[in-house]
Parts: sequence; structure tokens; C-alpha cells
Amino acid sequence: MTKRIFRSILTVSLAALLAALVLIVGVLHGYFQNRVEDDLHNQAVYIAQGVEKSGEAFFDGLSPASRVTWIAKDGTVLYDSWEDASKMENHADREEVKQAMTQGRGTAVRYSSTLEQQTIYSALRLDDSTVIRVADTQYSVWKLVLQALQPMAIVILAALALAAVLASRVSRQIVQPINALDLSGPGLKDEDLYDELTPLMAKLRAQNRQINKQITQLRRRQEEFSAITENMSEGFLVLDTRTRVLSNNSAALALLETDCQPKPGETSVYVLSREEGFRRCVEEALAGRRSERMLEKDERCRQVIASPVLQDGHLSGAVLVILDVTEREQRESLRREFTANVSHELKTPLTAISGTAEILENGLVKPADVAHFAGNIHREAGRLIHLVNDIIKLSRLDEGVQEGLWDRVDMLRLAHQVIEQVRPAAEKKNVMLEVRGTVAFAAGVPQILEEILYNLCDNAVAYNKEDGSVTVTVEDTGAGARVTVSDTGVGIPKEARERVFERFYRVDKSHSSGGTGLGLSIVKHGAAYLGATVELTSEVGKGTTFVLKFPPLEEE
Ligand code: ADP
Repeated sequence: MTKRIFRSILTVSLAALLAALVLIVGVLHGYFQNRVEDDLHNQAVYIAQGVEKSGEAFFDGLSPASRVTWIAKDGTVLYDSWEDASKMENHADREEVKQAMTQGRGTAVRYSSTLEQQTIYSALRLDDSTVIRVADTQYSVWKLVLQALQPMAIVILAALALAAVLASRVSRQIVQPINALDLSGPGLKDEDLYDELTPLMAKLRAQNRQINKQITQLRRRQEEFSAITENMSEGFLVLDTRTRVLSNNSAALALLETDCQPKPGETSVYVLSREEGFRRCVEEALAGRRSERMLEKDERCRQVIASPVLQDGHLSGAVLVILDVTEREQRESLRREFTANVSHELKTPLTAISGTAEILENGLVKPADVAHFAGNIHREAGRLIHLVNDIIKLSRLDEGVQEGLWDRVDMLRLAHQVIEQVRPAAEKKNVMLEVRGTVAFAAGVPQILEEILYNLCDNAVAYNKEDGSVTVTVEDTGAGARVTVSDTGVGIPKEARERVFERFYRVDKSHSSGGTGLGLSIVKHGAAYLGATVELTSEVGKGTTFVLKFPPLEEE
């Protein structure tokens, strides 16, 4: 812009200078032509006086700088200083001669065939009506003009240089406020600017504000989007058609187990995972089909759902959602296992009942043995009822169904109560029962607390040795009640300690007490339901200790 303004100013200055030059030349030319005409006239007056006085003899020895011609009344050339007069044609029709004949003097400017140049003529009528004419070339005028122009040329060059300097400075001055414009900040005040630019500035500022507003909105949306996706536990990936990752959250990277931080629009999604199922899923989505696959690795199970993204009917990429379904799959597998186990556990007593009933029905039993067979049926039915009750209890705990109202329960009292329930079984084995400790309260549903304690004490007796002992200790730790059930029984092998809490798990099925295999599962789930923990320590052949820790009571 500066250059353009500079060039424009310089061109205008140059044009003005040229126009002035033409004007000056014109004026000078007119001025010098008048001067030359006056000079010719003066010469003519001087020669006329000489001719009037001396006649033709005056011309002898005269060598004038200008051309002198003496013309007779009829136009015959009597004398010419440059040409042979006798050879010259009649001059009566020459304009300056005609004027001199009629008006006494005459001037003319025209082309002279003799001088072969544009010529100025000045003619003067003598008393004898002859005419003296003095002529000079126009060239002499131009010579004078050029002479006068020489000093002017210096002035013009100086003016040109000045014009260039001024043009450069002015153009910079004009552009400077425009260059200094800063639309982002307060920048120039309007009064510092050109009036002509004020409406444009207002428009630009309005547009600037609008753009800033839109940028802020976009940034906020981007932040919202990031906040949402970053707080998602599901992995989220957006790809373009060439498998490059456009957007992702950190959950996606964690679920794909990669440390790579993809560069948006650069990193291929295959860099994040090379698993076959994942690759297939991406390929199908980018072929325009929705796809779902399970990725299994090191007991971790993830589900990938890939959907194509269409824009105006054209595929523009894919969106991938990755879910951690390990727990879901484990639950599903546990449920399948549980169903199979339940069916099996139910089948055993039912088969026994059915078989015994069939024998009775066929009359194959002696009347004296009927009571024994009926007793078998009764025992198996009892086991069945026990099993079904345990399953119901577990499923209620699983579903978090409220088992009863919460209360402050005196655990020492409860321990005494439970010990009395297991006493008949203990006496059969001569197992000594003891309750120790102090009063300690725990918050919980009394039935669940009783169930937990009963299962632990029942096992402590059932898996005990003859003449063994079971000790229940109740303590108030200040940070919640603690109940310890220890026995001097067979103990639990190390590898089984984790598993005894699983449903239907028994360490040694052949030596099972006839329990359902659900007792410790109920203990574990019941404790979790009440916010308590169960810990187990055991030594094979010496005994087992279960410790129940309850959270502190909340102030009413
Ligand atoms: P069960 O009905 O078979 O007793 P549980 O879930 O109560 O089922 O216990 C699971 C298994 O843990 C038992 O079969 C037994 O092998 C073992 N067990 C539980 N308590 C004790 C204990 N106090 N001493 C030794 N083994 C135990």
C-alpha cells in the first residue's frame, strides 16, 4: 500500500511538473518570438533608413546576421542577402509583404523554401513603396527557449527529488495509522484515525467481537465435551476415514492398555491397539457397518462398539466406544456356575427322597424299617429346605433387599444366644464352647447378624475335632465392635482360604458336615451388606479364626 501511494504521489507530481514545463515553454516561446519579431523590425527600420539614403549601394559590404530582402512595389525581388535576387520569384503575394504594402509593416511566420525552415518575417514599407523584409528562422526562438530552460532543468530535477522524498514520507505517514491498527486490543482511538475509516473500523470491531464470542462459545463447548468424555469410564475415540484419531479420552487409552498419547489427526488408531478384534471393528465401521466385538486379554474383558459417521450421506469417519465388561462377564459366568451348582445340589437330596419314597411305595420295606426310611426322607427334605432357605437368603443379600429393620445389637448377648443354638451339636463332639469379652454394640439387621454368627459358630463346631473348643470373643475397639470366632479344628489349607467364601465351595466334599456350602457366602455378603469385614486366619490341623470388624456406631 505504501508503495502504491508513493507511486501515485510521484506520478501526480511528475504530471504537474510536466504541465508546468509545457506552460513555461509555451510562455517562453511566445515571449522570445515577440522579442525576435521586435528585433527583426528594428533591423528592418535600420536597413530601410540606409536604403532610403544610399539606395542599393547600402547593401554593398553589408553582411547581416539575418536574411534581408528588398522587394519592389510590384513584388519583384530587388536584392536578397542569401539568394540571387534575379532568380527569385515575385514576392507580391507574401503575407508580410502584402501587409507592409497596405499597412506600412507586416509580420508572418511560415515555412521558407529558401531557408528550408520555419521562418519569421518582418516587412517595412519604404517611402518609395518598396519593401524591406528581414527574416530569421524559428530555430533561433527555440535556441533562446532552450537557453532559458537550462537553469530551469536544475530546478525541475531538484523539484523531482523533493517530490520523491515528500511522496515517500507522506505515503508512510498515511499508512502508519492503518498499520498501527490493533483490532484485538483497544488499539487506536477513533480520533487518531481517518474519518473515512471510522465506519470500516466500527464494522471490523463488531465482526471482531462476534468472532471472539464465537471462539469463546466454541472453546466452552470443547471444554464441556472434554469434561464429559474425560469423566466417562467408557473409552471414546473419533476417527477419520484414514484411521487417524481425531479425538479421544484417557479412558480409551487406559482400556486399550497403551501409553501412547495420540496426536489429533496424525496418529493411526492401530498404533493404540494391534488386537485382531479391534482392527476388524475399525475396518467394518470404516466400511460403513456398525460393529461390536469383545476383546479378551489377561482376564480383562472389553467390548468395542464401532459406528460409522456419515455426513451428507458420505462416510466421514467412525466413533468407537470401549466398555470394560470384565465384571459383567464375571458376574455372568458366576451366575451360570451358580445355576449349575444349585441344580446339582438340589438334585442330590431330591434323588434320595424320590428313591426312598419309591421303595416305600413298592412295599419293599419291612414295617419295622418304615420309620428309618421316613426319617431319611425327613432329613433330606430338611437339607433341601435348608438349601433353599440359604439360596433365598443369598439372593436377597445379592439384590440388596432390606432383610429387616436396622438396630443397635448387643453382640455379646447375641454371641451367648448363638452359642446355645450350636450347643447340642457341640456336645455330640464334646466340643467346649466359650464366650469371652465385653459388651460391644454393632449397627445392623439383627437377623443378618445372627445368621453370620451362627454360620461361623456352626462351622467352628462342625469342622472341629473331638474334645476341641470354640471361643467367641466380643470386643469394643473404640472404632467399632470386633467379634472373633476361633476353633481348634481341622483348619483350612492356604490355597482354599480365598475360595471358602465362594458359593458351594467346600474344601473336602467327602468330609462335608452336610452343610450347603453357602454358609460362608452368606457370612461374606451379610457382612458386606452391613458394612463390616471378615478376615480369616487358619493353620491346618490346629484351627481357624474368623474376625468380624464392624464400623463404629453413628451418633444418633
Ligand atoms: P458348608 O456348608 O460346607 O459348611 P461353608 O460355606 O460354611 O459351607 O464353608 C465352606 C467350606 O469351608 C466348608 O466346606 C469347609 O471345608 C470350610 N470351612 C468353613 N469353616 C471352617 C472352619 N471353621 N474350619 C475348617 N474349615 C472350615
